[in-house]
Amino acid sequence: MARLGFREWLAVGRVIAGGTLTRTERAGGACDRFENELAGFAGCNHALAVSSGTAALIAALQACGVGPGDEVLVPAYTWMASAGAVLQVGAVPVLVEVDETLTLDAKDFAAKITPRSRAVIPVHMLNRPCDMDRILPIAQEHGLKVIEDACQAVGIRYNGRVLGTLGDIGTFSFNQHKNMTCGEGGAVLTSNATLIDRARNAHDMGLGFRQANTLDTNEIFLGNNFRISEIQGAILRVQLRKLQGRINRMLRRVTMMADMLERNGYPIAKPHGNGPTASLVLTFDAEGEAIQFAERRGARRLFDSSKHVYTEWEPILTRKMAHPGVTPWAWAGNPNGPGPESCPKTIDLLKRSCAINSMPDVPMPVVRYLARKLAA
Ligand SMILES: *Cc1c(COP(=O)(O)O)cnc(C)c1O
Repeated sequence: MARLGFREWLAVGRVIAGGTLTRTERAGGACDRFENELAGFAGCNHALAVSSGTAALIAALQACGVGPGDEVLVPAYTWMASAGAVLQVGAVPVLVEVDETLTLDAKDFAAKITPRSRAVIPVHMLNRPCDMDRILPIAQEHGLKVIEDACQAVGIRYNGRVLGTLGDIGTFSFNQHKNMTCGEGGAVLTSNATLIDRARNAHDMGLGFRQANTLDTNEIFLGNNFRISEIQGAILRVQLRKLQGRINRMLRRVTMMADMLERNGYPIAKPHGNGPTASLVLTFDAEGEAIQFAERRGARRLFDSSKHVYTEWEPILTRKMAHPGVTPWAWAGNPNGPGPESCPKTIDLLKRSCAINSMPDVPMPVVRYLARKLAA
């Protein structure tokens, strides 16, 4: 959980004193500045701040033109929103197994591509990069858009590049549990001018008259209101300045704990990419070992992480939309959708895996003390 402090408090105070809370009232406010700073940090051309990670996914899908009849490949281990956003635009998620790193399995992804496939959502779970070196060429070969869900990996790099900027378009979340926060918020990142124009249109009702909206008049389509306020923008500017320091603390703690656990023979699950990792996962041989380990302080078993496991996605597995006339599954020629048996390998891995918190805000000596107990 990212921490807020005096600097955020001051930044919010300045916005309140200025009296302009809505970003559309004037150009050059906190939201505009944050977007420029975020694009600069991530190393892409454009960033758009939105009201949540879910909103970012919906705007990204709409930007890519995904809709009824389309299939989008989504990992079976992710926050339910990655699959839910696909249904909200009228398309259907096709569940893909995860590999030993607990991210999208490139081989199963390739095997599940059909003529209906339009896009893939690689999800960088638990600050762990997907196997982008394999996923990107497969997507390209089949003409699929790559929409990265980097909601759980804000600021993390894969072979030097910030996650969320490797595919066609990427998404961040800034809810309270993510690497940086403004309570609720998100962002869309891309270097493609058309995609950012369409995402901006999608997030602001389709109001082409706004200054920032450069979409051609006849390209404007009906959007939604996913805007954030200047208060959130001001908090995010401060949080972004703190992000790299926070990630460095995560990396130091994870490296130290991983060394200690590995020396004692614990099975560390290695991530993709050549960088150090900001998260720590152990995958045991047997489910019972994981259940036992999860009782230690600071550890939790991933199978017990509720709506991150596809078998817990009731509204998706029961195909319940707000109105019975909205039937994405029928539109995609697959009226039954996925079932609880769809991804057995993912369930097996999650049952045997535990994550350990990276504890960036806990002093190093305390983390060392806790790690010694975890590694006992
Ligand atoms: C948090 C999260 C989201 C959604 O973010 P919200 O801001 O809560 O809407 C999407 N995908 C993943 C993997 C997440 O962890």
